[in-house]
Amino acid sequence: MSDCIFCKIVAGQIPAAKIYEDDKVLAFLDINPINPGHTLVIPKIHFSNLTQTPVEVSQNLIMVIKKISPAIMKGVGAQGFNLGLNNGSIAGQIIFHMHFHLIPRFADDGHKLWSGRQYQLGEMEKVAENIKKFLIPNSYFLYG
Ligand code: AMP
Ligand code: ZN
Repeated sequence: MSDCIFCKIVAGQIPAAKIYEDDKVLAFLDINPINPGHTLVIPKIHFSNLTQTPVEVSQNLIMVIKKISPAIMKGVGAQGFNLGLNNGSIAGQIIFHMHFHLIPRFADDGHKLWSGRQYQLGEMEKVAENIKKFLIPNSYFLYG
C-alpha cells in the first residue's frame, strides 16, 4: 500500500534498523522501544492485521521469530521475551500492516504483566461454548 509506513520500509523508501530479511519477512527495531531490542516482524506483502493474513504467511512470521529470538536475547542480554500483536484499533493497533512485537524482558525492567480477574460461577463454561459455536472445522481463513 502506497501510504503504509511499513510498506515504505520494505521498499527501502524510509530507513529502519533491519536485523533480519528474507524473501517474505522483514524484522527491524521498533523506533519507540518498550525495551532495547524491541523488534517488529512483518510480512513483506501488506495485510492489515492477523485476521487478514493468510495462514502460510503467518507461519513464515512465526518461523522467523523462532529463528531470530535467540539472537535478539543474546544481543541485548535479555532473560526472556514477550510476543505481542495488537489486532485492531481497540487493541492498540496504530500501524495497519500486520506485525508481531518481540519485546525482550529483563529482570529489573519494571514492566508488569496484565492483571487477571476471576470468572463468576458458570461464566467460563458459557464463554467457551459461545466461542466454539463460531469455529469452522479445518479452516484458518476466518476473515473478519
Ligand atoms: P501497533 O500499536 O501494534 O500498531 O505498533 C506500531 C509500532 O510501530 C509502534 O510500537 C511504533 O513505535 C512502531 N513504529 C512506528 N513507526 C516506525 C518506524 N518508522 N520504524 C520503526 N518502528 C516504528
Ligand atoms: Zn503495508
